[in-house]
Amino acid sequence: MSPDLERLTATFGDAFGGAADGVWTAPGRVNLIGEHTDYNEGFVLPFAIDLAARVALRVRDDGVMRLLSTAGSESGITELSVGDLRSDRAKGWSVYPSGVVWAFQERGIDVPGFELVLDSDVPLGAGLSSSHAIECAVATALNEVTGAGLDAEELVLTTQRAENAFVGAPTGIMDQSASLRGRSGHAVFLDCRDQSVELVPFDAAAAGLVTLVIDTRVAHSHADGGYANRRDACELGAQVLGVKALRDVSVDDLDEARGLMDETTFRRVRHVVTEDQRVLDSVAALRGSGPAGIASLLDASHASMRDDFEISCDELDTAVEASRAAGAIGARMTGGGFGGSAIALVPDDDENRVRDAVLAAFAERGFGAPRLFTVTPADGARRLA
Ligand code: ADP
Ligand code: MG
Repeated sequence: MSPDLERLTATFGDAFGGAADGVWTAPGRVNLIGEHTDYNEGFVLPFAIDLAARVALRVRDDGVMRLLSTAGSESGITELSVGDLRSDRAKGWSVYPSGVVWAFQERGIDVPGFELVLDSDVPLGAGLSSSHAIECAVATALNEVTGAGLDAEELVLTTQRAENAFVGAPTGIMDQSASLRGRSGHAVFLDCRDQSVELVPFDAAAAGLVTLVIDTRVAHSHADGGYANRRDACELGAQVLGVKALRDVSVDDLDEARGLMDETTFRRVRHVVTEDQRVLDSVAALRGSGPAGIASLLDASHASMRDDFEISCDELDTAVEASRAAGAIGARMTGGGFGGSAIALVPDDDENRVRDAVLAAFAERGFGAPRLFTVTPADGARRLA
Protein backbone atom coordinates (compact mmCIF):
# COMPACT_ATOMS: atom_id res chain seq x y z
CA MET A 1 0.00 0.00 0.00
CA SER A 2 1.32 3.47 -0.84
CA PRO A 3 2.18 5.80 2.07
CA ASP A 4 -0.70 8.09 1.01
CA LEU A 5 -3.17 5.25 1.20
CA GLU A 6 -1.76 4.01 4.50
CA ARG A 7 -2.17 7.43 6.04
CA LEU A 8 -5.73 7.73 4.78
CA THR A 9 -6.67 4.25 6.02
CA ALA A 10 -5.12 4.92 9.43
CA THR A 11 -6.92 8.26 9.76
CA PHE A 12 -10.21 6.61 8.83
CA GLY A 13 -9.72 3.90 11.45
CA ASP A 14 -8.81 6.43 14.15
CA ALA A 15 -11.76 8.69 13.37
CA PHE A 16 -14.54 6.22 12.63
CA GLY A 17 -13.25 2.77 13.66
CA GLY A 18 -12.76 -0.15 11.30
CA ALA A 19 -12.23 0.12 7.56
CA ALA A 20 -13.80 2.15 4.76
CA ASP A 21 -15.86 0.51 2.02
CA GLY A 22 -13.37 1.85 -0.50
CA VAL A 23 -11.04 4.66 -1.52
CA TRP A 24 -11.69 6.84 -4.57
CA THR A 25 -9.46 9.49 -6.09
CA ALA A 26 -9.79 12.46 -8.44
CA PRO A 27 -6.97 14.70 -9.67
CA GLY A 28 -6.57 18.45 -9.87
CA ARG A 29 -5.95 19.95 -13.29
CA VAL A 30 -3.87 22.51 -15.06
CA ASN A 31 -5.01 24.28 -18.19
CA LEU A 32 -2.38 24.03 -20.91
CA ILE A 33 -4.11 26.58 -23.12
CA GLY A 34 -7.58 28.04 -23.74
CA GLU A 35 -8.38 30.72 -21.19
CA HIS A 36 -11.75 32.46 -20.87
CA THR A 37 -12.89 30.49 -23.90
CA ASP A 38 -15.14 28.11 -21.93
CA TYR A 39 -18.07 30.48 -21.38
CA ASN A 40 -17.76 31.59 -25.00
CA GLU A 41 -18.59 28.00 -26.03
CA GLY A 42 -15.06 27.54 -27.31
CA PHE A 43 -12.13 25.18 -26.79
CA VAL A 44 -9.90 24.37 -23.82
CA LEU A 45 -6.97 22.00 -23.39
CA PRO A 46 -6.41 21.10 -19.73
CA PHE A 47 -4.84 17.96 -18.32
CA ALA A 48 -5.45 16.02 -15.12
CA ILE A 49 -2.37 16.26 -12.91
CA ASP A 50 -0.49 13.85 -10.69
CA LEU A 51 -1.76 15.64 -7.59
CA ALA A 52 -5.11 14.38 -6.38
CA ALA A 53 -7.77 14.22 -3.70
CA ARG A 54 -8.48 10.82 -2.17
CA VAL A 55 -11.59 9.96 -0.19
CA ALA A 56 -12.11 6.91 2.01
CA LEU A 57 -15.84 6.37 2.39
CA ARG A 58 -18.13 4.00 4.29
CA VAL A 59 -21.88 3.96 3.91
CA ARG A 60 -24.12 4.51 6.96
CA ASP A 61 -27.80 3.66 6.97
CA ASP A 62 -28.99 6.54 9.17
CA GLY A 63 -28.67 9.45 6.73
CA VAL A 64 -25.84 11.03 8.71
CA MET A 65 -22.76 12.39 6.88
CA ARG A 66 -19.57 12.60 8.92
CA LEU A 67 -16.67 14.36 7.23
CA LEU A 68 -13.02 14.74 8.15
CA SER A 69 -10.05 16.21 6.25
CA THR A 70 -6.43 15.38 6.97
CA ALA A 71 -5.57 19.04 6.21
CA GLY A 72 -4.62 20.74 9.46
CA SER A 73 -6.40 24.02 8.99
CA GLU A 74 -9.92 22.65 9.11
CA SER A 75 -9.68 19.84 11.62
CA GLY A 76 -12.48 18.04 13.41
CA ILE A 77 -15.41 15.98 12.19
CA THR A 78 -18.29 17.84 10.56
CA GLU A 79 -21.67 16.18 10.94
CA LEU A 80 -24.54 16.85 8.53
CA SER A 81 -27.74 15.12 7.50
CA VAL A 82 -28.24 14.04 3.87
CA GLY A 83 -31.96 14.73 4.27
CA ASP A 84 -31.45 18.37 5.14
CA LEU A 85 -28.66 19.94 3.07
CA ARG A 86 -28.57 23.69 2.67
CA SER A 87 -25.68 25.62 1.25
CA ASP A 88 -25.98 28.36 3.86
CA ARG A 89 -25.43 25.76 6.58
CA ALA A 90 -22.48 23.89 5.09
CA LYS A 91 -19.27 25.11 6.70
CA GLY A 92 -15.84 25.25 5.08
CA TRP A 93 -14.97 22.43 2.71
CA SER A 94 -18.09 20.41 3.65
CA VAL A 95 -19.88 22.53 1.05
CA TYR A 96 -18.22 20.43 -1.70
CA PRO A 97 -19.32 16.93 -0.62
CA SER A 98 -22.68 18.39 0.44
CA GLY A 99 -23.12 19.96 -2.99
CA VAL A 100 -22.41 16.65 -4.68
CA VAL A 101 -24.91 14.79 -2.48
CA TRP A 102 -27.48 17.51 -3.18
CA ALA A 103 -26.91 17.29 -6.95
CA PHE A 104 -27.26 13.47 -6.85
CA GLN A 105 -30.53 13.88 -4.94
CA GLU A 106 -31.73 16.42 -7.49
CA ARG A 107 -31.31 13.71 -10.15
CA GLY A 108 -33.56 11.46 -8.09
CA ILE A 109 -30.71 9.33 -6.73
CA ASP A 110 -31.13 8.14 -3.16
CA VAL A 111 -27.94 8.90 -1.22
CA PRO A 112 -27.36 7.13 2.10
CA GLY A 113 -25.37 8.61 4.95
CA PHE A 114 -21.62 8.01 5.04
CA GLU A 115 -18.38 8.55 6.86
CA LEU A 116 -15.66 10.15 4.79
CA VAL A 117 -12.01 11.09 5.22
CA LEU A 118 -10.47 13.43 2.67
CA ASP A 119 -6.74 13.55 2.00
CA SER A 120 -5.53 15.77 -0.83
CA ASP A 121 -2.20 16.88 -2.20
CA VAL A 122 -3.68 19.41 -4.62
CA PRO A 123 -2.54 22.78 -3.25
CA LEU A 124 -5.45 24.97 -2.17
CA GLY A 125 -6.21 28.13 -4.11
CA ALA A 126 -3.36 27.71 -6.61
CA GLY A 127 -5.77 27.53 -9.52
CA LEU A 128 -5.30 23.75 -9.80
CA SER A 129 -8.90 23.07 -8.76
CA SER A 130 -8.46 21.48 -5.38
CA SER A 131 -12.18 22.03 -4.89
CA HIS A 132 -13.18 20.15 -8.05
CA ALA A 133 -10.84 17.32 -7.09
CA ILE A 134 -12.88 16.90 -3.90
CA GLU A 135 -16.19 17.07 -5.76
CA CYS A 136 -15.11 14.62 -8.44
CA ALA A 137 -13.70 12.13 -5.91
CA VAL A 138 -16.90 12.24 -3.86
CA ALA A 139 -19.07 11.99 -6.98
CA THR A 140 -17.11 8.97 -8.22
CA ALA A 141 -17.45 7.28 -4.82
CA LEU A 142 -21.19 8.00 -4.53
CA ASN A 143 -21.78 6.91 -8.12
CA GLU A 144 -20.48 3.49 -7.14
CA VAL A 145 -21.94 3.03 -3.65
CA THR A 146 -25.41 4.20 -4.70
CA GLY A 147 -25.33 2.08 -7.86
CA ALA A 148 -26.37 5.21 -9.80
CA GLY A 149 -24.20 4.24 -12.77
CA LEU A 150 -23.80 7.76 -14.16
CA ASP A 151 -21.43 7.97 -17.13
CA ALA A 152 -18.56 10.47 -17.33
CA GLU A 153 -20.64 13.14 -19.08
CA GLU A 154 -23.41 12.85 -16.51
CA LEU A 155 -20.89 13.06 -13.69
CA VAL A 156 -19.46 16.23 -15.28
CA LEU A 157 -22.91 17.82 -15.36
CA THR A 158 -23.75 16.65 -11.84
CA THR A 159 -20.60 18.13 -10.32
CA GLN A 160 -21.11 21.31 -12.34
CA ARG A 161 -24.63 21.54 -10.93
CA ALA A 162 -23.20 21.10 -7.40
CA GLU A 163 -20.71 23.87 -8.07
CA ASN A 164 -23.15 26.31 -9.71
CA ALA A 165 -26.30 25.83 -7.67
CA PHE A 166 -25.01 24.67 -4.27
CA VAL A 167 -21.49 26.04 -3.85
CA GLY A 168 -22.52 29.14 -5.79
CA ALA A 169 -19.62 29.43 -8.24
CA PRO A 170 -20.65 30.20 -11.86
CA THR A 171 -18.05 27.89 -13.43
CA GLY A 172 -18.09 25.95 -16.67
CA ILE A 173 -17.27 22.29 -17.29
CA MET A 174 -13.51 22.39 -17.86
CA ASP A 175 -12.31 21.46 -14.38
CA GLN A 176 -14.64 18.50 -13.92
CA SER A 177 -14.03 17.27 -17.44
CA ALA A 178 -10.28 17.17 -16.87
CA SER A 179 -10.58 15.58 -13.43
CA LEU A 180 -13.11 12.96 -14.50
CA ARG A 181 -12.00 12.27 -18.08
CA GLY A 182 -8.22 12.87 -18.02
CA ARG A 183 -5.76 10.19 -19.04
CA SER A 184 -2.09 9.65 -18.25
CA GLY A 185 0.15 11.00 -21.02
CA HIS A 186 -2.69 13.04 -22.55
CA ALA A 187 -4.33 16.43 -22.50
CA VAL A 188 -8.11 16.73 -22.67
CA PHE A 189 -9.26 18.65 -25.73
CA LEU A 190 -12.72 19.80 -24.75
CA ASP A 191 -15.31 21.50 -26.90
CA CYS A 192 -17.30 23.56 -24.40
CA ARG A 193 -20.26 23.85 -26.79
CA ASP A 194 -21.15 20.17 -27.04
CA GLN A 195 -18.95 18.75 -24.23
CA SER A 196 -17.17 16.41 -26.62
CA VAL A 197 -13.71 15.31 -25.55
CA GLU A 198 -10.71 14.09 -27.50
CA LEU A 199 -7.57 12.88 -25.75
CA VAL A 200 -4.45 14.42 -27.27
CA PRO A 201 -0.96 13.05 -26.55
CA PHE A 202 1.02 15.29 -24.22
CA ASP A 203 4.13 13.45 -23.11
CA ALA A 204 6.49 16.24 -22.08
CA ALA A 205 8.92 13.82 -20.41
CA ALA A 206 9.46 11.91 -23.64
CA ALA A 207 10.30 15.21 -25.30
CA GLY A 208 12.84 16.04 -22.58
CA LEU A 209 10.59 18.69 -21.05
CA VAL A 210 8.86 19.34 -17.75
CA THR A 211 5.72 21.35 -17.10
CA LEU A 212 6.66 23.68 -14.27
CA VAL A 213 3.86 25.32 -12.27
CA ILE A 214 4.69 28.63 -10.66
CA ASP A 215 2.06 29.40 -8.02
CA THR A 216 2.40 33.12 -7.31
CA ARG A 217 0.35 32.70 -4.11
CA VAL A 218 -1.41 35.96 -4.81
CA ALA A 219 -5.12 36.45 -5.39
CA HIS A 220 -5.85 40.04 -6.26
CA SER A 221 -9.08 41.45 -4.89
CA HIS A 222 -10.46 42.55 -8.25
CA ALA A 223 -10.63 38.94 -9.49
CA ASP A 224 -14.41 38.56 -9.04
CA GLY A 225 -15.35 41.91 -10.57
CA GLY A 226 -12.80 41.41 -13.34
CA TYR A 227 -14.31 38.04 -14.26
CA ALA A 228 -17.86 39.38 -14.45
CA ASN A 229 -16.70 42.38 -16.45
CA ARG A 230 -14.85 40.18 -18.98
CA ARG A 231 -17.91 37.95 -19.39
CA ASP A 232 -20.06 41.01 -20.05
CA ALA A 233 -17.62 42.30 -22.67
CA CYS A 234 -17.67 38.93 -24.45
CA GLU A 235 -21.46 38.86 -24.43
CA LEU A 236 -21.60 42.38 -25.82
CA GLY A 237 -19.09 41.46 -28.54
CA ALA A 238 -21.13 38.42 -29.57
CA GLN A 239 -24.31 40.49 -29.63
CA VAL A 240 -22.76 43.20 -31.81
CA LEU A 241 -21.41 40.56 -34.19
CA GLY A 242 -24.76 38.80 -34.31
CA VAL A 243 -23.46 35.39 -33.19
CA LYS A 244 -24.63 33.04 -30.44
CA ALA A 245 -21.19 33.04 -28.83
CA LEU A 246 -17.67 34.25 -29.70
CA ARG A 247 -16.90 30.67 -30.66
CA ASP A 248 -18.68 31.50 -33.91
CA VAL A 249 -16.22 34.27 -34.83
CA SER A 250 -13.05 33.38 -36.73
CA VAL A 251 -9.69 35.14 -36.78
CA ASP A 252 -10.48 36.26 -40.35
CA ASP A 253 -13.55 38.15 -39.07
CA LEU A 254 -11.52 40.32 -36.71
CA ASP A 255 -10.59 43.10 -39.13
CA GLU A 256 -14.22 43.77 -39.83
CA ALA A 257 -15.20 43.46 -36.17
CA ARG A 258 -12.80 46.19 -35.14
CA GLY A 259 -14.95 48.93 -36.64
CA LEU A 260 -18.16 47.70 -35.03
CA MET A 261 -17.34 48.13 -31.34
CA ASP A 262 -15.33 50.18 -28.90
CA GLU A 263 -11.61 49.48 -28.62
CA THR A 264 -11.74 47.70 -25.25
CA THR A 265 -14.56 45.37 -26.28
CA PHE A 266 -12.68 44.63 -29.48
CA ARG A 267 -9.55 43.63 -27.58
CA ARG A 268 -11.59 41.33 -25.32
CA VAL A 269 -13.13 39.73 -28.41
CA ARG A 270 -9.74 39.41 -30.09
CA HIS A 271 -8.35 37.54 -27.11
CA VAL A 272 -11.12 34.96 -27.13
CA VAL A 273 -11.15 34.49 -30.90
CA THR A 274 -7.36 34.15 -31.20
CA GLU A 275 -7.22 31.95 -28.06
CA ASP A 276 -9.72 29.49 -29.57
CA GLN A 277 -7.48 29.32 -32.64
CA ARG A 278 -4.41 28.78 -30.44
CA VAL A 279 -6.13 25.79 -28.81
CA LEU A 280 -6.84 24.28 -32.22
CA ASP A 281 -3.26 25.00 -33.31
CA SER A 282 -1.94 23.44 -30.09
CA VAL A 283 -3.92 20.26 -30.69
CA ALA A 284 -2.52 20.07 -34.23
CA ALA A 285 1.01 20.72 -32.94
CA LEU A 286 0.76 18.05 -30.23
CA ARG A 287 -0.46 15.53 -32.77
CA GLY A 288 2.29 16.57 -35.17
CA SER A 289 5.59 17.73 -33.76
CA GLY A 290 4.85 17.07 -30.08
CA PRO A 291 5.01 19.21 -26.89
CA ALA A 292 7.73 21.60 -28.09
CA GLY A 293 5.38 22.62 -30.91
CA ILE A 294 3.10 24.51 -28.53
CA ALA A 295 5.80 26.69 -26.95
CA SER A 296 5.22 29.78 -29.08
CA LEU A 297 1.45 29.38 -28.67
CA LEU A 298 1.88 29.52 -24.89
CA ASP A 299 3.83 32.76 -25.26
CA ALA A 300 1.20 34.24 -27.58
CA SER A 301 -1.57 33.21 -25.18
CA HIS A 302 0.15 35.03 -22.33
CA ALA A 303 0.65 38.19 -24.38
CA SER A 304 -3.01 38.12 -25.37
CA MET A 305 -4.17 37.79 -21.77
CA ARG A 306 -1.79 40.49 -20.63
CA ASP A 307 -2.47 43.04 -23.38
CA ASP A 308 -5.92 42.29 -24.81
CA PHE A 309 -7.86 40.63 -22.00
CA GLU A 310 -5.89 42.46 -19.29
CA ILE A 311 -6.13 39.75 -16.63
CA SER A 312 -2.46 39.26 -15.83
CA CYS A 313 -0.63 40.97 -12.96
CA ASP A 314 2.98 41.83 -12.10
CA GLU A 315 3.60 38.53 -10.31
CA LEU A 316 2.33 36.45 -13.27
CA ASP A 317 4.28 38.54 -15.79
CA THR A 318 7.39 38.15 -13.65
CA ALA A 319 6.92 34.36 -13.50
CA VAL A 320 6.57 34.18 -17.27
CA GLU A 321 9.40 36.57 -18.13
CA ALA A 322 11.89 35.12 -15.63
CA SER A 323 11.22 31.53 -16.65
CA ARG A 324 11.51 32.37 -20.34
CA ALA A 325 14.77 34.28 -19.82
CA ALA A 326 16.25 31.32 -17.91
CA GLY A 327 15.48 28.68 -20.53
CA ALA A 328 11.75 27.88 -20.60
CA ILE A 329 10.70 27.43 -24.23
CA GLY A 330 7.21 28.81 -23.63
CA ALA A 331 5.21 30.12 -20.67
CA ARG A 332 1.85 31.60 -19.80
CA MET A 333 -0.40 32.49 -16.93
CA THR A 334 -3.07 29.83 -16.46
CA GLY A 335 -6.50 30.10 -14.88
CA GLY A 336 -8.85 33.02 -14.45
CA GLY A 337 -6.19 35.64 -13.86
CA PHE A 338 -5.30 38.38 -11.36
CA GLY A 339 -3.10 35.88 -9.50
CA GLY A 340 -2.92 32.12 -9.27
CA SER A 341 -0.39 30.19 -11.30
CA ALA A 342 1.70 30.35 -14.43
CA ILE A 343 3.01 27.33 -16.33
CA ALA A 344 6.31 27.02 -18.16
CA LEU A 345 7.53 24.34 -20.53
CA VAL A 346 11.15 23.76 -19.52
CA PRO A 347 13.90 21.49 -20.90
CA ASP A 348 14.90 18.95 -18.21
CA ASP A 349 18.42 20.30 -18.00
CA ASP A 350 17.23 23.85 -17.36
CA GLU A 351 14.70 23.12 -14.64
CA ASN A 352 16.89 24.10 -11.71
CA ARG A 353 18.13 27.23 -13.43
CA VAL A 354 14.55 28.30 -14.19
CA ARG A 355 13.43 27.61 -10.62
CA ASP A 356 16.31 29.70 -9.23
CA ALA A 357 15.69 32.52 -11.69
CA VAL A 358 11.99 32.73 -10.84
CA LEU A 359 12.69 32.75 -7.10
CA ALA A 360 15.35 35.43 -7.58
CA ALA A 361 13.08 37.60 -9.73
CA PHE A 362 10.29 37.44 -7.16
CA ALA A 363 12.69 38.30 -4.33
CA GLU A 364 14.17 41.18 -6.30
CA ARG A 365 10.74 42.73 -6.87
CA GLY A 366 9.73 42.27 -3.24
CA PHE A 367 7.05 39.64 -3.99
CA GLY A 368 6.44 36.75 -1.59
CA ALA A 369 8.16 33.50 -2.58
CA PRO A 370 6.17 31.53 -5.19
CA ARG A 371 5.56 27.79 -4.89
CA LEU A 372 7.19 25.79 -7.69
CA PHE A 373 6.43 22.21 -8.71
CA THR A 374 6.20 20.08 -11.82
CA VAL A 375 3.08 18.27 -12.99
CA THR A 376 2.50 15.47 -15.47
CA PRO A 377 -0.72 14.30 -17.10
CA ALA A 378 -2.39 11.64 -14.96
CA ASP A 379 -5.45 9.40 -15.09
CA GLY A 380 -8.81 10.86 -14.16
CA ALA A 381 -11.06 9.92 -11.25
CA ARG A 382 -11.26 6.26 -10.31
CA ARG A 383 -11.43 3.75 -7.47
CA LEU A 384 -8.05 3.20 -5.79
CA ALA A 385 -8.78 0.51 -3.23
P1 ADP B 1 -8.87 25.92 -6.04
O1 ADP B 1 -10.00 25.05 -6.41
O2 ADP B 1 -8.33 26.71 -7.18
O3 ADP B 1 -7.79 25.20 -5.33
P2 ADP B 1 -10.89 27.11 -4.43
O4 ADP B 1 -10.93 28.35 -3.61
O5 ADP B 1 -11.92 26.88 -5.47
O6 ADP B 1 -9.42 27.02 -5.02
O7 ADP B 1 -10.98 25.87 -3.46
C1 ADP B 1 -10.21 25.82 -2.29
C2 ADP B 1 -11.11 25.29 -1.18
O8 ADP B 1 -11.20 23.86 -1.30
C3 ADP B 1 -10.55 25.51 0.20
O9 ADP B 1 -10.95 26.76 0.72
C4 ADP B 1 -11.15 24.37 0.99
O10 ADP B 1 -12.46 24.68 1.41
C5 ADP B 1 -11.25 23.27 -0.03
N1 ADP B 1 -10.16 22.29 0.08
C6 ADP B 1 -9.27 21.96 -0.87
N2 ADP B 1 -8.45 20.97 -0.44
C7 ADP B 1 -8.83 20.68 0.83
C8 ADP B 1 -8.39 19.76 1.83
N3 ADP B 1 -7.36 18.92 1.62
N4 ADP B 1 -9.04 19.74 3.01
C9 ADP B 1 -10.08 20.57 3.24
N5 ADP B 1 -10.54 21.45 2.35
C10 ADP B 1 -9.93 21.52 1.16
MG1 MG C 1 -11.89 25.80 -7.20
